[in-house]
Amino acid sequence: MTPEDFESWSRRAADWGARYRRTLGDRPVRARTDAGEIYRAIPAEPPQTGEEMAAIFEDFENIILPGMTHWQHPRFFAYFPANAAPVSVVAEYLVTAMAAQCMLWQTSPAATELETRMMEWLRDAVGLPGTFSGVIQDSASSATLAAMLVMRERALDWQGNVRGLAGGPAPRVYCSDQVHSSIDRAAWVSGIGQDNLIKLPAEASGAMPPDALDAAIRADFAAGHRPAGVVACVGGTSTGASDDIRAVVEVAQRHALYVHVDAAWAGAAMICPEFRDIWAGVEQADSVVFNPHKWLGASFDCSAHLVRDPETLVKTLAIQPEYLKTHGQDGVIDYSEWSIPLGRRFRALKLWFLLRFHGLEGLRGIIRDHVRWSGNLCERLRATEGVEIVTEPALSLFSFRRAGATDDETIAHLRTINDEGRIYLTQTRVGDRIAIRFQAGSHAMTEADTGIAYDAILDGFGLSAGTAG
Ligand SMILES: *Cc1c(COP(=O)(O)O)cnc(C)c1O
Repeated sequence: MTPEDFESWSRRAADWGARYRRTLGDRPVRARTDAGEIYRAIPAEPPQTGEEMAAIFEDFENIILPGMTHWQHPRFFAYFPANAAPVSVVAEYLVTAMAAQCMLWQTSPAATELETRMMEWLRDAVGLPGTFSGVIQDSASSATLAAMLVMRERALDWQGNVRGLAGGPAPRVYCSDQVHSSIDRAAWVSGIGQDNLIKLPAEASGAMPPDALDAAIRADFAAGHRPAGVVACVGGTSTGASDDIRAVVEVAQRHALYVHVDAAWAGAAMICPEFRDIWAGVEQADSVVFNPHKWLGASFDCSAHLVRDPETLVKTLAIQPEYLKTHGQDGVIDYSEWSIPLGRRFRALKLWFLLRFHGLEGLRGIIRDHVRWSGNLCERLRATEGVEIVTEPALSLFSFRRAGATDDETIAHLRTINDEGRIYLTQTRVGDRIAIRFQAGSHAMTEADTGIAYDAILDGFGLSAGTAG
């Protein structure tokens, strides 16, 4: 591509992105294509000779775009959000243009040093003490895997990497049954294994019972296992359940276990001091992850992994082959030693742009609005005859269903609502029954969007809007 073409197509892409964001609210939130439709529209063979950019761009709009679910849509109320604030998109464009490999300090000092500063900004913003240091991981799943590897190595006297796990005592990790599937996968991949991930049934509050945790650890020590760590959860994906972090840490410290806190979604809300009750005691944890790429607005991928003692992480993950050594650069950080992949994108730039452009007060305002608007919608639904609130709001997440609906009916309601397209919701299981989740988190959303959500839900339930509420 000539420099002139690069310039003009970059402009085209930027114009397209701006128009896309401006008109997003007019599109159905979820893709409406059938399985296999996009695949069949793409030729089986790549072209042997280059094609015109105009044709490629046109196919992007005609073939790809209809198959996209619009995560930046103002009425994306499914899963958790994956906001990419416009300012972070601008920063990502610069990162993509530079395309630096930021594995070592010397492979881009600015990327490393900005990352250190941004993790300090975020640490302070969520109220963690200055003794924590941070690294940007690609995802919360990776941060949790790294933390579980530290648990394993600590428990095995740093011999697991060398000897493997076969034959030795089994390291065991404890959590509630409300944790994200990434905790299970971290147990599989770390070699700890599902059987050694001990899931304690949560109490009605959603928290793991500390006494049961203590009893399980004691029993495992007595049985010759090697209790290694606890993964605590703040703002679980299903209904926003949280553990009592202070109580969990107290039990874990009694047995010298490592504590990792998964606050992937809820952590962003900790920039608002009034919400910090849900992770009270977190300053005593060893490792905390939250995703600025969810609620905060830094485009995916950007996971803040904050640890009390980075030495244990580095001891677990650093390989130092000769060709990677940064001779004479004592005191510099090579973040590839803090994470599993060697290669690293420059992820700190979008955080810097985001935090400077919005300011913490600006971001707090967005999160507070979402919590308030979601709470108001919950009350409006509660006051509506025929609607049942299943779980109460945790920050901006609650669940509900049509009163008296069977699971099949709830699934059918959800399909009707999502096919109609004004909003997008997902389901979860509460106890042994299905409920519909609602979370407010799109930076593009306004209060009016909860009104549209209310109408769309009532229409989907076959209740005429305005019955009550
Ligand atoms: C989203 C989420 C995860 C997974 O995050 P990734 O960054 O996609 O790996 C893990 N735990 C919780 C509680 C989450 O909400």
